Amino acid sequence: MPLSNSQYDTIIREYNARQIQNQHAKDDRIKEAYGKDQRLKMIDDAISSCSLGQARKLLGGDVTALASLRLMLSDYRKQRLAILDELGYSEQYFEPSYACSDCKDTGYIGNDRCHCFRQRAIDLVYTQSNIRSILNNENFDAFSYDYYSSTEVNPSTGLTSLETIQNAVKACRSFILEFDSSFSNLFFYGDTGVGKTFLSNCVAKELLDTGHSVIYFTAFQLFDILKRNTFQKNADADMLAAHQNIFDCDLLILDDLGTELPNSFTVSQLFLCLNERILRRKSTIISTNLPIHQLAELYSERTFSRISSHYMMLKLFGDDIRIQKKLRQP
Ligand SMILES: [Zn+2]
Repeated sequence: MPLSNSQYDTIIREYNARQIQNQHAKDDRIKEAYGKDQRLKMIDDAISSCSLGQARKLLGGDVTALASLRLMLSDYRKQRLAILDELGYSEQYFEPSYACSDCKDTGYIGNDRCHCFRQRAIDLVYTQSNIRSILNNENFDAFSYDYYSSTEVNPSTGLTSLETIQNAVKACRSFILEFDSSFSNLFFYGDTGVGKTFLSNCVAKELLDTGHSVIYFTAFQLFDILKRNTFQKNADADMLAAHQNIFDCDLLILDDLGTELPNSFTVSQLFLCLNERILRRKSTIISTNLPIHQLAELYSERTFSRISSHYMMLKLFGDDIRIQKKLRQP
């Protein structure tokens, strides 16, 4: 993912700060344990000095140094464990606790950027760091079927509101499960407040948690970025990077399509964006309140044809959940 120098520096500074913080926290825990039992410090000191001494011997040609070092270390380790056990500590307590255990908060795995780095770059470029707090509330654990009626039937499918959402959740679950092995896209449509955005967020959370890069946009925000990139002279590196990510990220969520006022620019840009992502086999989730027949009218036949042939179309229906939540409040 392309980043400008200043964006890169910002992220690396955050990683460095986190590493220092981890080290301090680890030192504090060790100090706390030393305070409880002096023998721990003596053993740790002995381990360092015997390692150093044996290394010197090894360098001096003593081939038995390594074997005797191993023996000594194993003995010290046993003593250390026994004391820790007595004090009620586990060995892991003294290990650093990383925000990302995959890269140990370095941002890199070997020479490659870690998934946490890639997502941090997206959050920074799109200033979408608030998405984390939204996803803490909107995820599958918080999902409730209570708002969907088991009696209200959609005449065109013969399914109740509850059965419809159960099918949609099942489709989302397999979308997530097969995300790395098969390319697919989701299209949620239906009236306001039937859970389209909530369901998109559930998927976003699962994929973010498994190290995928996710960008969330309302249609308005997407077109705004595309517009600035196209019409602004001398677009800076940050902006160009932002533009590239729209085609590159693992999942693009395009929420509330149709709430902006479509014009010839947005119509052609939407086609380019969706088409490019299909060509790159990068998944997209679209949600809209528009009835399906209006999609072709507003965004052209060719866009509609791409969506209908590459997206799983999921129509949700029911009563407005936001209104129901308000009604149920004491
Ligand atoms: Zn990482």
